[in-house]
Amino acid sequence: MGQIQLNQVTKSFGDVQVIPPLDLTIEDGEFAVFVGPSGCGKSTLLRLIAGLEDFTTGHIEIDGKDATAVPPAKRGLAMVFQSYALYPHMTVRKNIAFPLRMAKMDQAEIDRRVENAASILNLSDYLDRRPGQLSGGQRQRVAIGRAIVREPAAFLFDEPLSNLDAALRVGMRMEISELHKKLATTMIYVTHDQVEAMTMADKIVVLRAGHIEQVGSPLELYRTPRNLFVAGFIGSPK
Ligand code: ADP
Ligand code: MG
Repeated sequence: MGQIQLNQVTKSFGDVQVIPPLDLTIEDGEFAVFVGPSGCGKSTLLRLIAGLEDFTTGHIEIDGKDATAVPPAKRGLAMVFQSYALYPHMTVRKNIAFPLRMAKMDQAEIDRRVENAASILNLSDYLDRRPGQLSGGQRQRVAIGRAIVREPAAFLFDEPLSNLDAALRVGMRMEISELHKKLATTMIYVTHDQVEAMTMADKIVVLRAGHIEQVGSPLELYRTPRNLFVAGFIGSPK
Protein backbone atom coordinates (compact mmCIF):
# COMPACT_ATOMS: atom_id res chain seq x y z
CA MET A 1 0.00 0.00 0.00
CA GLY A 2 1.26 3.47 -0.74
CA GLN A 3 -1.36 6.09 -1.55
CA ILE A 4 -0.19 9.57 -0.62
CA GLN A 5 -2.58 12.49 -0.37
CA LEU A 6 -1.68 16.12 0.32
CA ASN A 7 -4.52 18.38 1.43
CA GLN A 8 -4.16 22.15 1.35
CA VAL A 9 -0.50 21.92 2.21
CA THR A 10 1.49 25.12 2.49
CA LYS A 11 5.09 25.79 3.45
CA SER A 12 6.75 29.05 4.38
CA PHE A 13 10.32 29.77 5.33
CA GLY A 14 10.05 32.88 7.51
CA ASP A 15 7.80 35.28 5.63
CA VAL A 16 8.32 33.60 2.30
CA GLN A 17 5.63 31.15 1.22
CA VAL A 18 7.39 28.69 -1.09
CA ILE A 19 4.41 26.31 -1.38
CA PRO A 20 0.99 27.98 -1.72
CA PRO A 21 -2.05 25.78 -0.82
CA LEU A 22 -1.56 22.55 -2.72
CA ASP A 23 -3.66 19.40 -3.19
CA LEU A 24 -2.19 16.28 -4.72
CA THR A 25 -2.90 12.57 -4.73
CA ILE A 26 -0.37 9.92 -5.70
CA GLU A 27 -2.04 6.54 -6.18
CA ASP A 28 -0.73 3.29 -4.76
CA GLY A 29 1.84 1.80 -7.12
CA GLU A 30 2.15 4.90 -9.24
CA PHE A 31 5.44 6.29 -10.58
CA ALA A 32 5.00 10.04 -10.08
CA VAL A 33 7.56 12.56 -11.26
CA PHE A 34 7.79 16.09 -9.87
CA VAL A 35 9.36 18.25 -12.53
CA GLY A 36 10.07 21.97 -12.76
CA PRO A 37 12.89 24.49 -12.84
CA SER A 38 15.44 24.88 -10.08
CA GLY A 39 13.99 26.57 -6.99
CA CYS A 40 10.33 25.74 -7.80
CA GLY A 41 9.89 23.70 -4.61
CA LYS A 42 10.39 20.09 -5.73
CA SER A 43 12.75 19.15 -2.90
CA THR A 44 10.67 21.01 -0.33
CA LEU A 45 7.56 19.12 -1.41
CA LEU A 46 9.36 15.78 -1.24
CA ARG A 47 10.78 16.61 2.19
CA LEU A 48 7.30 17.54 3.41
CA ILE A 49 6.03 14.14 2.25
CA ALA A 50 8.99 12.41 3.90
CA GLY A 51 8.38 14.29 7.14
CA LEU A 52 11.83 15.90 7.04
CA GLU A 53 10.16 19.31 6.93
CA ASP A 54 7.07 20.43 8.89
CA PHE A 55 4.05 21.81 7.07
CA THR A 56 3.13 25.40 7.78
CA THR A 57 -0.53 24.40 7.28
CA GLY A 58 -2.40 21.47 5.76
CA HIS A 59 -2.09 17.75 6.21
CA ILE A 60 -0.91 14.53 4.60
CA GLU A 61 -2.63 11.17 4.48
CA ILE A 62 -0.78 7.96 3.77
CA ASP A 63 -3.11 5.11 2.81
CA GLY A 64 -6.05 7.15 4.06
CA LYS A 65 -4.59 7.76 7.53
CA ASP A 66 -3.54 11.18 8.75
CA ALA A 67 0.26 11.13 8.90
CA THR A 68 0.84 14.83 9.45
CA ALA A 69 2.24 14.32 12.96
CA VAL A 70 3.92 10.98 12.22
CA PRO A 71 7.74 11.24 12.40
CA PRO A 72 9.76 10.37 9.27
CA ALA A 73 10.96 6.97 10.49
CA LYS A 74 7.37 5.86 11.12
CA ARG A 75 5.82 7.00 7.84
CA GLY A 76 6.87 3.88 5.99
CA LEU A 77 8.47 5.93 3.22
CA ALA A 78 12.08 5.63 2.12
CA MET A 79 14.06 8.54 0.76
CA VAL A 80 16.80 7.60 -1.72
CA PHE A 81 19.72 9.94 -1.43
CA GLN A 82 22.48 10.41 -3.95
CA SER A 83 25.20 7.80 -3.82
CA TYR A 84 27.65 10.11 -2.10
CA ALA A 85 25.58 9.69 1.07
CA LEU A 86 27.08 6.17 1.51
CA TYR A 87 29.42 5.47 4.42
CA PRO A 88 32.88 5.02 2.81
CA HIS A 89 34.33 2.95 5.66
CA MET A 90 31.47 0.40 5.66
CA THR A 91 31.04 -2.53 3.31
CA VAL A 92 28.16 -2.62 0.87
CA ARG A 93 26.44 -5.12 3.16
CA LYS A 94 26.73 -2.79 6.15
CA ASN A 95 25.66 0.24 4.12
CA ILE A 96 22.52 -1.52 2.92
CA ALA A 97 21.80 -2.96 6.36
CA PHE A 98 22.32 0.38 8.13
CA PRO A 99 18.66 1.48 8.49
CA LEU A 100 17.68 -1.98 9.76
CA ARG A 101 20.49 -2.04 12.33
CA MET A 102 19.36 1.39 13.50
CA ALA A 103 15.86 -0.07 13.89
CA LYS A 104 17.41 -2.97 15.91
CA MET A 105 15.95 -5.59 13.61
CA ASP A 106 16.75 -9.24 14.18
CA GLN A 107 20.07 -10.18 12.47
CA ALA A 108 18.62 -13.11 10.48
CA GLU A 109 15.90 -10.84 9.08
CA ILE A 110 18.52 -8.19 8.26
CA ASP A 111 20.58 -10.78 6.35
CA ARG A 112 17.52 -12.00 4.48
CA ARG A 113 16.50 -8.49 3.42
CA VAL A 114 20.01 -7.39 2.45
CA GLU A 115 20.54 -10.48 0.31
CA ASN A 116 17.15 -10.05 -1.34
CA ALA A 117 17.88 -6.38 -2.14
CA ALA A 118 21.36 -7.25 -3.41
CA SER A 119 19.90 -9.87 -5.71
CA ILE A 120 17.26 -7.47 -7.09
CA LEU A 121 20.01 -4.88 -7.75
CA ASN A 122 22.69 -7.30 -9.06
CA LEU A 123 24.96 -6.48 -6.14
CA SER A 124 25.26 -9.98 -4.67
CA ASP A 125 28.92 -10.29 -5.66
CA TYR A 126 29.82 -6.90 -4.20
CA LEU A 127 28.52 -7.15 -0.63
CA ASP A 128 31.98 -7.27 0.93
CA ARG A 129 33.38 -4.31 -0.99
CA ARG A 130 33.48 -0.72 0.15
CA PRO A 131 31.85 2.10 -1.84
CA GLY A 132 35.27 3.31 -3.05
CA GLN A 133 35.72 -0.02 -4.87
CA LEU A 134 32.49 0.33 -6.86
CA SER A 135 31.49 2.11 -10.07
CA GLY A 136 29.19 5.14 -9.91
CA GLY A 137 26.22 3.06 -11.02
CA GLN A 138 26.91 0.39 -8.41
CA ARG A 139 27.17 3.01 -5.70
CA GLN A 140 23.81 4.44 -6.74
CA ARG A 141 22.35 0.92 -6.54
CA VAL A 142 23.67 0.56 -2.99
CA ALA A 143 21.89 3.80 -2.10
CA ILE A 144 18.69 2.33 -3.56
CA GLY A 145 19.31 -0.96 -1.72
CA ARG A 146 19.30 0.91 1.56
CA ALA A 147 15.74 2.01 0.74
CA ILE A 148 14.55 -1.40 -0.54
CA VAL A 149 15.44 -3.24 2.68
CA ARG A 150 13.02 -1.06 4.60
CA GLU A 151 10.20 -2.46 2.44
CA PRO A 152 8.64 0.99 2.27
CA ALA A 153 5.12 1.92 1.15
CA ALA A 154 6.77 4.41 -1.20
CA PHE A 155 10.21 5.41 -2.44
CA LEU A 156 11.11 9.08 -2.63
CA PHE A 157 13.93 10.06 -5.00
CA ASP A 158 15.40 13.56 -5.11
CA GLU A 159 17.40 13.94 -8.32
CA PRO A 160 19.25 10.70 -7.57
CA LEU A 161 21.14 10.68 -10.86
CA SER A 162 22.24 14.30 -11.05
CA ASN A 163 25.83 13.56 -10.06
CA LEU A 164 26.25 10.72 -12.57
CA ASP A 165 27.60 11.20 -16.09
CA ALA A 166 25.17 11.24 -19.03
CA ALA A 167 25.70 7.65 -20.20
CA LEU A 168 25.34 6.23 -16.72
CA ARG A 169 22.24 8.33 -16.13
CA VAL A 170 20.43 6.68 -19.04
CA GLY A 171 21.27 3.22 -17.71
CA MET A 172 20.20 4.03 -14.16
CA ARG A 173 16.99 5.60 -15.41
CA MET A 174 16.11 2.27 -17.02
CA GLU A 175 17.15 0.36 -13.91
CA ILE A 176 14.88 2.45 -11.69
CA SER A 177 11.98 1.94 -14.12
CA GLU A 178 12.67 -1.81 -14.04
CA LEU A 179 12.76 -1.73 -10.26
CA HIS A 180 9.37 -0.03 -10.23
CA LYS A 181 7.97 -2.79 -12.42
CA LYS A 182 9.47 -5.50 -10.19
CA LEU A 183 8.36 -4.04 -6.87
CA ALA A 184 5.13 -2.32 -8.00
CA THR A 185 5.66 0.12 -5.13
CA THR A 186 4.73 3.81 -5.26
CA MET A 187 7.66 5.97 -6.33
CA ILE A 188 7.96 9.74 -6.32
CA TYR A 189 10.86 10.96 -8.37
CA VAL A 190 12.06 14.57 -8.42
CA THR A 191 13.97 15.88 -11.41
CA HIS A 192 14.50 19.04 -13.43
CA ASP A 193 15.14 16.84 -16.48
CA GLN A 194 12.13 16.62 -18.81
CA VAL A 195 13.50 13.53 -20.55
CA GLU A 196 13.55 11.65 -17.25
CA ALA A 197 10.01 12.84 -16.56
CA MET A 198 8.68 11.83 -19.96
CA THR A 199 10.35 8.40 -20.03
CA MET A 200 9.80 7.28 -16.44
CA ALA A 201 6.49 8.71 -15.22
CA ASP A 202 2.98 7.32 -15.00
CA LYS A 203 2.01 10.76 -13.72
CA ILE A 204 3.93 14.00 -14.15
CA VAL A 205 3.40 16.89 -11.74
CA VAL A 206 4.66 20.11 -13.31
CA LEU A 207 5.64 22.64 -10.64
CA ARG A 208 6.34 26.32 -10.97
CA ALA A 209 7.03 28.63 -8.05
CA GLY A 210 5.60 26.11 -5.58
CA HIS A 211 2.27 25.54 -7.30
CA ILE A 212 1.10 22.80 -9.64
CA GLU A 213 0.76 23.96 -13.23
CA GLN A 214 -0.57 20.63 -14.49
CA VAL A 215 -0.82 16.96 -13.57
CA GLY A 216 -1.15 14.24 -16.18
CA SER A 217 0.41 11.32 -17.98
CA PRO A 218 3.38 12.12 -20.26
CA LEU A 219 1.10 11.74 -23.28
CA GLU A 220 -1.59 14.04 -21.86
CA LEU A 221 0.93 16.74 -21.07
CA TYR A 222 2.53 16.41 -24.47
CA ARG A 223 -0.78 16.48 -26.36
CA THR A 224 -2.70 18.98 -24.26
CA PRO A 225 -0.37 21.21 -22.27
CA ARG A 226 -2.46 23.69 -20.31
CA ASN A 227 -0.21 26.64 -21.06
CA LEU A 228 3.05 27.73 -22.65
CA PHE A 229 5.04 27.03 -19.51
CA VAL A 230 4.01 23.35 -19.53
CA ALA A 231 4.44 23.13 -23.30
CA GLY A 232 7.89 24.66 -23.09
CA PHE A 233 8.91 22.44 -20.24
CA ILE A 234 7.61 19.21 -21.70
CA GLY A 235 8.88 20.10 -25.15
CA SER A 236 5.57 19.77 -26.97
CA PRO A 237 4.74 22.00 -29.95
CA LYS A 238 2.28 24.78 -29.10
P1 ADP B 1 13.95 22.74 -6.05
O1 ADP B 1 14.21 21.46 -5.37
O2 ADP B 1 12.80 22.70 -7.01
O3 ADP B 1 15.18 23.30 -6.73
P2 ADP B 1 13.60 23.79 -3.36
O4 ADP B 1 12.46 23.01 -2.82
O5 ADP B 1 14.96 23.39 -2.92
O6 ADP B 1 13.51 23.84 -4.96
O7 ADP B 1 13.40 25.31 -2.97
C1 ADP B 1 12.19 25.99 -3.16
C2 ADP B 1 12.32 27.40 -2.60
O8 ADP B 1 12.42 27.35 -1.18
C3 ADP B 1 13.55 28.13 -3.08
O9 ADP B 1 13.21 29.48 -3.29
C4 ADP B 1 14.53 27.97 -1.94
O10 ADP B 1 15.43 29.05 -1.89
C5 ADP B 1 13.61 27.98 -0.73
N1 ADP B 1 14.13 27.17 0.39
C6 ADP B 1 14.35 25.85 0.37
N2 ADP B 1 14.80 25.42 1.57
C7 ADP B 1 14.87 26.52 2.36
C8 ADP B 1 15.26 26.75 3.72
N3 ADP B 1 15.66 25.74 4.51
N4 ADP B 1 15.21 28.01 4.17
C9 ADP B 1 14.79 29.03 3.40
N5 ADP B 1 14.40 28.90 2.11
C10 ADP B 1 14.44 27.66 1.58
MG1 MG C 1 15.91 20.26 -5.30
